[in-house]
Amino acid sequence: KGLKKYFPITGGVFGKQVGTVKAVDDVTFTVYRGETLGIVGESGCGKSTTGRMLLRLIEPTDGSIVFEGKHVTALSKAELRRLRRDMQMIFQDPFASLNPRHTVEKILEEPLIVHRMGSKEERKRRVREMLEVVGLGSYHAKRYPHQFSGGQRQRIGIARALMTHPKLIIADEPVSALDVSIQAQVLNLLEDLQRQFGLTYIFIAHDLGVVRHISDRVGVMYLGRMVELADSESLYESPKHPYTQALLSAVPIPDPDHKRERQLLSGDLPNPANPPQGCAFHTRCAFCMDICREQRPEWREVTDGHYVACHLYESAGGWRDDRPIEQK
Ligand code: SF4
Ligand code: MG
Repeated sequence: KGLKKYFPITGGVFGKQVGTVKAVDDVTFTVYRGETLGIVGESGCGKSTTGRMLLRLIEPTDGSIVFEGKHVTALSKAELRRLRRDMQMIFQDPFASLNPRHTVEKILEEPLIVHRMGSKEERKRRVREMLEVVGLGSYHAKRYPHQFSGGQRQRIGIARALMTHPKLIIADEPVSALDVSIQAQVLNLLEDLQRQFGLTYIFIAHDLGVVRHISDRVGVMYLGRMVELADSESLYESPKHPYTQALLSAVPIPDPDHKRERQLLSGDLPNPANPPQGCAFHTRCAFCMDICREQRPEWREVTDGHYVACHLYESAGGWRDDRPIEQK
């Protein structure tokens, strides 16, 4: 709730603070048990920073995080360590996150050692069990990361995240580095594991296409802010925010009868250190009105469970268009 992460920008010979990047600026959302919440946005929108803050791998500047009634933001180091059994992360680049000098067995055993879980025998047994669960086969235990393909390495990353029996997995672009043919296999595996272990996912991606089938709900971020959040069906069928509409028009549509007007994004992503006033999207928005340049739009629930931050939706369900007639 109200999550913020501000990074100082330093410059000059004395390293004085010359500005602030609001990497995450007042983001609020809920994740329900057993669901997959997709979080989507261009690089630099703050989606990874948000994911890392939930685990306190990055300390929030402000805001609160509550997990099963516990205030994550108020936990001591020891309590936080206990909590990290329950909340694990999967990273984009499985190779960079796996120690090249360690065998798969050692890599997978490590979280259990860190959390002091199980005897040596039990740990070895669990490593073999998890290798089978992610479809690799336990005979791989003595091999090293470089002996695996990209897709297999991501399976190792997934197995490592599951070692401590977590409840929540934050997956930060887990398939972005993989070939398209392999992406589907890894997504299917994640879905199977969710059913098998009752997992909850926060699935971060830069493209709405990737999260479409795996997500129950999707949040869209732009320049550090959440601009729209809805269940997948309403988001893909009736996107409300002009940014979501633009992102969706870039996703290929499988059904040729279902034509969507191609509405491309105009202009470049503004410098995050100096975001536009008012609605941060106004420099690229086809519907920009005077109020958009001055006032930040509020986060509103416009229909049941469908949230949007945009001046076009001033009242529930309403559509406001203040542009001069000739621009409409
Ligand atoms: Fe566009 Fe204004 Fe809505 Fe921002 S608030 S998305 S500028 S219409
Ligand atoms: Mg990222």
